[in-house]
Amino acid sequence: MKRDEAILRELNLHPLWKRREDGGVGASVTPPPRDAQHETSFVHPVAVSAAPGAADAAATAREELIAGLPWPGLKIMVRDCTACRLRAACTQTVFGAGDEKADWLFVGEGPGADEDIQGEPFVGQAGKLLDNMLHSIKLKRGDNAYIANVVKCRPPNNRTPEADEIATCTPYLHRQIALIQPKIIVALGKTASTSLLGRDAALGSLRGAVHDFHGIPLIATYHPAYLLRTPLDKAKAWDDLCLAVRTAAGSR
Ligand code: URA
Repeated sequence: MKRDEAILRELNLHPLWKRREDGGVGASVTPPPRDAQHETSFVHPVAVSAAPGAADAAATAREELIAGLPWPGLKIMVRDCTACRLRAACTQTVFGAGDEKADWLFVGEGPGADEDIQGEPFVGQAGKLLDNMLHSIKLKRGDNAYIANVVKCRPPNNRTPEADEIATCTPYLHRQIALIQPKIIVALGKTASTSLLGRDAALGSLRGAVHDFHGIPLIATYHPAYLLRTPLDKAKAWDDLCLAVRTAAGSR
């Protein structure tokens, strides 16, 4: 059995998971201009003072600082971050991985147990399914695809991150997006979708539409971990990926 066929079977989708040829990932893709990505040396910021009553100002100053960081500084700041309670309970931060000039950005919720140990996003069972989803649209991690999470530290017992944890970590993800300048964002699951869109909604109500994240099209789909538990919904995830491919090709 060919590898593609084996993957489709594993996804329960053979022979449905056939990519339409009218909107391929590689079709007429003109990479958008990217900001100058200064790879200058980085001096670790002095902690922002948090005098009583100055919490909002401190948060704004932190956001502004993060919004100006180049890749090396951002990585250091995430690595050393203790800004919320999650860091105390996890092994290490998980920054994100892949092609830093990718057209495709996939955003998950937060590291699980395997990611916490290995320091890489989506390396467990859900990661294997994500790899197969990427393969089905002719992508692979590290090659025109970047994988990140809303929160960079594993929430205890894989619980959903709390709103304040998401709010504290969000400037990192926003900076990653600004540096990558992807052509399309695929939000995996409700946490990623609602965090990026800045509003609460059921995932089902967000699927099937092209949303906007500061000018970048965003497609909401199921989280691979959910698809492992609910394989019948893989067909809907395939529909979402097809919409993403068409959108990325500019032929919605
Ligand atoms: N689930 C996520 O949302 N992200 C990971 O990195 C792994 C599992």
